[in-house]
Amino acid sequence: MRRKLVIGNWKMNGSRAGNTALLSGIVAGLNDFGADCAVCVPAPYLAQAQTELEGTAVAWGAQDVSIHASGAYTGEVSAAMLLDFGAQYVLCGHSERRAYHGESSELVAQKVVAALAAGLTPVACFGETLAQREAGETEAVICGQLQAVLDVLTPEQVAKVVLAYEPVWAIGTGKTATPQIAQAAHQFLRARLAQKNAAVAQNVQILYGGSMKPENAKELMAQPDIDGGLIGGAALNPTDFLGIIQAV
Ligand code: PGA
Repeated sequence: MRRKLVIGNWKMNGSRAGNTALLSGIVAGLNDFGADCAVCVPAPYLAQAQTELEGTAVAWGAQDVSIHASGAYTGEVSAAMLLDFGAQYVLCGHSERRAYHGESSELVAQKVVAALAAGLTPVACFGETLAQREAGETEAVICGQLQAVLDVLTPEQVAKVVLAYEPVWAIGTGKTATPQIAQAAHQFLRARLAQKNAAVAQNVQILYGGSMKPENAKELMAQPDIDGGLIGGAALNPTDFLGIIQAV
């Protein structure tokens, strides 16, 4: 039985004062809802997340990681640095990184490797654009993105990865994938995982992301291959974020 996991992706939002209000609101409202919960914050706020979340049921993480361990890579943040601030998760290959920073599937796979090597849990993100969906390319696109990761990992390593299916057309648009569309993609990804290792495929958590809100979370989370959510906009408001966790 896979546990449900809800991760907030703050993207480039936040301030010290605003973060304190948001985090304390989440911590205060969190009951034992039966789901694991984490927030992926901008790197400068990792220390704040550590200070304010240590000892609570909310884990924290980052939104990107360097493929390098250390050295002359101006602006980069290494997996060991994230770990130094108690991070547990790191997003790898979010569609905004792929689109605005030219991250290829091969680079994303290297980020997953770097995160695993440091002991972080990578959340590897996949998803098709609207044009790709309309051209009937959804499966080919997400299969290619997943395969790049599977190619560089052993089954034991795959077992330590979280996947996130985030159709680009649903991110920040208010257009959620229907539970049927999302389930079909998740089932497809799990079937591809099973070609690598059937037992591992049954245990890997696959999150859905893209305009998930308290109102649509319950039906999405009820799908057999949807193991939680990667939440953008709704993670910036404690009531909405808790509402999604509660929907589990
Ligand atoms: P959204 O973003 O919930 O605002 O659509 C999800 C994401 O990009 O992770």
